[in-house]
Parts: sequence; C-alpha cells; structure tokens
Amino acid sequence: MLWTKTLIPTLREAPSDAEIVSHKLLLRAGLIRKLAGGVYTFLPLGLRSLRKIEQIIREEMNRADAVEVLMPALQPTEIWEQSGRAETAKDVLFKVKDSSGRQWFLSPTAEEVITTLAAGEINSYRQLPKNFYQISVKFRDEIRPRFGLMRAKEFIMKDAYSFDTADEGAMASYKKMFDAYKRIFDRCGVQNFPVEADTGVIGGKHSHEYMVPAETGENDVVFCEACGYAANVEKATSGIPKTAAREIGTAIEKFATPGVVTIEALSKEPYKVPANRQIKTLVYMKADRASLLDTKPVLILVRGDDQLNEAKLAGAIGTTVFRPATPDEIRKVLGASPGSLGAVNIKLNPTQEEIRGLIDWDNFEILADERLRGANDMTTGANEDGFHFKNVSIERDITVTQWTDLRTVSAGEPCGKCAKPLKIRRAIEVGHVFKLGTKYSEALNATFLAEDGSRKPCVMGCYGIGVTRTLQAIIEQSNDKDGIIWPMSVAPYTVCITPLAIAPESPVMQLAEKLYAELTAQGVDVIIDDRDERPGVKFKDSELVGFPIRIGIGEKSLAKGEVEIKPRAGAMLATKPEEAVAKVLTLIKELTPGAK
Ligand code: ATP
Ligand code: MG
Repeated sequence: MLWTKTLIPTLREAPSDAEIVSHKLLLRAGLIRKLAGGVYTFLPLGLRSLRKIEQIIREEMNRADAVEVLMPALQPTEIWEQSGRAETAKDVLFKVKDSSGRQWFLSPTAEEVITTLAAGEINSYRQLPKNFYQISVKFRDEIRPRFGLMRAKEFIMKDAYSFDTADEGAMASYKKMFDAYKRIFDRCGVQNFPVEADTGVIGGKHSHEYMVPAETGENDVVFCEACGYAANVEKATSGIPKTAAREIGTAIEKFATPGVVTIEALSKEPYKVPANRQIKTLVYMKADRASLLDTKPVLILVRGDDQLNEAKLAGAIGTTVFRPATPDEIRKVLGASPGSLGAVNIKLNPTQEEIRGLIDWDNFEILADERLRGANDMTTGANEDGFHFKNVSIERDITVTQWTDLRTVSAGEPCGKCAKPLKIRRAIEVGHVFKLGTKYSEALNATFLAEDGSRKPCVMGCYGIGVTRTLQAIIEQSNDKDGIIWPMSVAPYTVCITPLAIAPESPVMQLAEKLYAELTAQGVDVIIDDRDERPGVKFKDSELVGFPIRIGIGEKSLAKGEVEIKPRAGAMLATKPEEAVAKVLTLIKELTPGAK
C-alpha cells in the first residue's frame, strides 16, 4: 500500500475531549474518527488492526470447536419479554420503531436470539454439545459513553454461546472458552489475566473476566501476589475476621444522640462508639412486580466501618433493578431520617403513614453482612431522630432474613486463601466467560430429547469479547511519548518503508519498491510512505502510528550500501540492502507474541 493512496490523517494534537492516552492516540494516529458521542468511524489503519484482532479471535474460536454464525442486530421484543430482560436490561436497550409502529431492540448481546435458534434447531442429545459464535456490531445505550472505543454506544463484540446436555459438559465447554481467551489475548500481545467475576442475578459460581491491567480501567481487581487469587471487587472476598463477640450486655438501651447522623460523629466524644461496633442500616427500593407499589423496601445491614457492595446486593436480592430509597421513602418506611435508622423492632415503630400499611411486614427483607454474624454489644439507630440503641445483639434483637456477603473488600485485608495482604489494581475488562445454566433455555424452550427419553433444557454458557475495546486496551498498554507501539500480530501494517526520495526513477524509491515486492511476496503487510514530506515528518508519523518495523532508505546511506531497520521499540540496525528482507523476516518471527 502507498501512504498517499490510503487515508492516514495524523494529528499533532489530540482533540480536547480525548482524556486517556489510548483515545488520544487512536485519533492522532488517524485510526478512528468520532461521528457522535460513543459512535466512531474506523479509518483504513484502524480497520486493519481491528480485522487482525478479529482474525485471531476467529482462529481460536474455530480451534475450540465453536462455529461461526451471524445473527441480526434487529431483534423482536417478544423474546426479550420471554427472558425477562426487556425489563432488567431496559436501561441499555436501544429501542426502535418501524413504520407500522412495531417496536424492536438493537442487539446489545444475543442470548435470546441464539436460544430461540437452538429451540428450533436442536432436538436431540445427539446434536450436542454445540457452541455458536459471531463477531458483530452491538448497541448499548450507555449513559456515559466515554474513553473512545472503551465504552461506546455502538461497538463490536464477539459473542459465543454453548449448549450442553448437562452440567459436566457445560463446564468442559466453559473451560475450552476460558483457555481460548488466554490464547487470544496473548496472541494480541496484550498483558492479561483472568479474575473471578460477579455472576449477578443469574447466580452460579462460574464466571471469569479477562482483564488488561491499566490505571484508566473502570474495574478494580482484588488480587493476591502470594497465591494468585484474583477477583473483580464486585465479587472479591477476603479473610477479614468477623466482629468479635463480647460478653452479652444487658438488654438494649435507647440513648439520646442529638444531631448525630454519621458513623463518624457517633465514634467521637461524647459517645465514642467505634465504627466497628456500629451497625449501618441502609434502605433500598427493589423492583417488585407483585407488590402494590412496584417497588419494595429492603433493609441492608453492614458494619459501620464497611461499605456495601451493590453488585453483591444484586445477587442477594435477585434483581439488578434497585436503588437507594429517598429520604422521603425512608421516613415513610421507618419513621426516621437517614442517620438514625436501625432494624431493631421495626414493626413496632409508631409511625402509621399510609405506606406502612402496604408493607408486608411478615415478609420484610432484612439482609445482613456475614461479618456481623454473632455480633453483640453493637450500636444502631433507633428509628427515631436523635436516638440510638446500644447493647444490641444482632441475632437476639434483629430478625435478619438473609445472611450473606455484602461488603466490599479493601486493599491490605488478608487473602481468604493464604492470609497474605490483598492488593487492588485498576483494569480494563476485555472479555467475559459465564456459565449460564438453564435460565435462557427454560425461558425460551431450548430443550432436547435426552438419551433416557426425557425432555431437558440445554445447559448454556455465554462468552463475550469486546473486540473494539480490546483494540484500544492494546494501545492503552503499549505506547510511549512518540505514539503507539503495536504488537506485531495486530499492527495495521507490519513494516513501513520510508524512502527519503520519492521520484520513481531514484535508486532510493526503486529499492523501496523492490523491498516492498519481496516482503509482500513473503506475506508481510507493508506500506510505503511515498509522501513528499521532510524526513522528520515521515519518521514522526511512522512512530506515532507505531508500525513495528521501519525500513529507512536515504540517498546518503544507500550510497554507503546501507539501509536502516528500526524496530519501533528497539535499536536501529544498519544492514545491506540485499540482507534487509531476511533481517525483517527474522525480526517478525522473534517479535510476534503469543501461542501459534
Ligand atoms: P461493562 O461492565 O464494562 O459495562 P459488561 O459486563 O456490560 O461490561 P458484557 O455484557 O459481558 O459486558 O459484554 C462482553 C464484553 O463486551 C465486555 O467484556 C466488554 O469487553 C465489551 N463491552 C461491553 N460494553 C461495552 C461498551 N459499551 N463499549 C465497548 N465494549 C463493551
Ligand atoms: Mg455494561
């Protein structure tokens, strides 16, 4: 390819709305252009890298026995009603109407479509296992699209879905994808590691995210250097001790705490109740179709020095549709304002506003974090502004309906496996493998005739890779002050030949064309920078775009019988023109990352 024939609009400065280095470099190197917030055009070089990443994904999916399909982006709403996600995913669903007024969704993912396909096409255990994948455009109405391709409204995802007859097979399918992902990200030349991930409302134990370490990532990963434990903070647990039990105090006692509405204030003079002897009471409203109100209050208890983890809460209450209650709602439910709340004797609270009559007190949910189990000698709000209870023994005085892990792990806590201190680092989630079980196959009737003649739902798994996000994550990780440093495997062109004279009859240009022809014949992707520009401009641009190898040909050095080979991240070496091709081929071999 000739530079002048393609479009590489490099920029000296990045537009001001690009905040992180990879976003700036995507724009400066002329790989993408913004059409609207979260919506981008891929220019020729960006597209070339994208296609290379897709090709690696394809090869590894095929190797792992997944078969490629292509599903529609336009999806009928009925299947989303059937799975229940028309409601639970409504915030990210792009909704479109056709001219007859019929509503459609633009695919944010495709569990519903593939399960519908399986319901029609898979009938017998003899057809299983199967794993289908596609690489296609996805749409999500992200509230805050940002960082370029990292969180876009329209992006490219590889999604795969496995179907098995039973759990055991489903685990094998899961493992195959887990291993394929490692190979994919290694081959893309990006540092990556799997972490245990939240399984949210679908539940189950098996979910891993593949992470790329980066300060600008949106995920916190908890990890242990000693034993290798690693988990998304949404899921991570630690070996932190439970609250120490003390001698059971006398019965609970109300005491006045005028103006005290924070854990911190209560820990100071004159009360001096340490945060770890306080119970923090939070009120959330969760979606509840059965209730008269559409939402239902839930009380959550965590220790005063702990933080509630909303991802864990979602798993515990079985829905992602929830929010903190407003002060007004809290007052109606508990009769007091935030800062004076508690779960002791809530039914006896004297406030009798209308809503209290609507609450099903017999089934009122009070969730408590495991760390509070057995705790006594605790202090908590009395549901009366300006008053707290002390001597609270949680199991004696509070009707906890569910004990579960609800707290967020912090750095320095002992690892739950080996007790060494845990660390936390930021990372970008590039892929997700998830054992789904039968949630979708049951909802959408993807059943098969088992060997024993019974009909069973397929056991499913789903596996996603953010292809465009991966492209940007590679750049976020691999760059320097001059620009991108592409791993060999995913560079838009592997070699950039930079002739410093461009007249067709000049020996410099003739050698450039010869090397181009020879390397191309060897299957190498080459571009010649045939622009009529100063050497400095050409060198700067080739560093900015980040081609892994540059071959510089100048009149002076050629007269000395030399051309210059410059690996993007290595030292320049002068070589004879006739040895250049062999040198470059060796370099490519040496520098190509990952398993083959
Ligand atoms: P996130 O927590 O980052 O929103 P998610 O859990 O919603 O991700 P999945 O539904 O598991 O993501 O989608 C599979 C993959 O698609 C993710 O691992 C990520 O790499 C990518 N992805 C998800 N949302 C976006 C987006 N808005 N823009 C670009 N890539 C995305
Ligand atoms: Mg998301």
